[in-house]
Amino acid sequence: MAKRDLYGDLGVKRTASAEEIKKAYRKLARKHHPDVNPGNHGAEEKFKRISFAYDALSDPAKRKAYDEFGMDGLQTGFDPERARGFKRAQSYGGFAPGPEKPGGGEQAGFGRYSSFEDIFGDLFGGRSEGGGAAPAQRGPDLESTLEIDLLSAIRGTTATISLAKPVECPTCHGSGTEGDGTACPECDGRGQTKVGTGPLSFNRRCPRCNGSGRIDQRPCPQCSGAGRIEKVERLNVKIPAGVDDGSRIRLAGKGGAGVGGAPSGDLYIVARVRPHPRLERRGQDLYLEVPVTIGEAMHGATIDVPTPDGIVKLKVPPGSQSGNKLRLRGKGVPEMKSSGRGDLYVVLMVQVPTDGTERVRDAVTVLEDSYARNPRSDLRL
Ligand SMILES: [Zn+2]
Ligand SMILES: [Zn+2]
Repeated sequence: MAKRDLYGDLGVKRTASAEEIKKAYRKLARKHHPDVNPGNHGAEEKFKRISFAYDALSDPAKRKAYDEFGMDGLQTGFDPERARGFKRAQSYGGFAPGPEKPGGGEQAGFGRYSSFEDIFGDLFGGRSEGGGAAPAQRGPDLESTLEIDLLSAIRGTTATISLAKPVECPTCHGSGTEGDGTACPECDGRGQTKVGTGPLSFNRRCPRCNGSGRIDQRPCPQCSGAGRIEKVERLNVKIPAGVDDGSRIRLAGKGGAGVGGAPSGDLYIVARVRPHPRLERRGQDLYLEVPVTIGEAMHGATIDVPTPDGIVKLKVPPGSQSGNKLRLRGKGVPEMKSSGRGDLYVVLMVQVPTDGTERVRDAVTVLEDSYARNPRSDLRL
């Protein structure tokens, strides 16, 4: 499979600013939006590609992960801190930087990588060998990105997400072991051993039984000793009206399962709001460019304008110009923390007829004569 270049998909440089990325996406999205190209499969594919690229590159954390780790950095549940720690640890040739010989340190502790199991456990979903029960550990917080379109974000929506997450192994109920085994001779079944002497001595988890006090237990056949298995869970998530790009929605206790009776972590849903090809959000306000004819602009008219709440009648005053903004109060984005709501600004865009017949050309000549002065006479920089 060819390596994907998300910057290339959007036609921007790797150094592009957030604003440039957004601009490039909006331009491409307008061009390739399925609504604009009904039935065009190529455009749809292209639209998906650029949406994916935008989703990744518009999120500073994801962009950083992509820059550093490529597409791997965009996997669900990818934890850059851990991956970095793991990379660093590998580059030391072992988990015990310092005087110990590289790759050794099995009994010497793991130095600054005392979270050896955290690194392995979360990168590979497994646990170091050594039998014995897994120590109690709160489940990991998980983060999942949910891409929604702007209108759904404004109106609020419910979405079903599929999430592969660690859950407690039903066979061993999280202990990772099968059978009772025998008491560990190293620690006399206490699960702790004393290290050092005098005032510098301290207890640490017994390396032989991994703190369980039992040995000769067989690893659980279902989870191979991890205590957790990965399960794809479908969750219905309620997305509140007014959610913005990058908003985090916390679902308490819906993260990864804890081990050894510890509670589950939380699940954070990060909303990625796809820009709409026509509707633009600025804070709580919306902006919509609405084409009008020369006649409507000059004589005034009542026109139908689509809003998130449906069609609304709007009075265009006589003598309107391209770029004039008309406000539809309260038709913007709902505030998430109050009952307030932004406005929808209609930006008038006067359309010139494309019909080039003589009749039209004559009419335009008459129009040209009707300008009292050069429209650019005040234009200075
Ligand atoms: Zn198990
Ligand atoms: Zn022991």
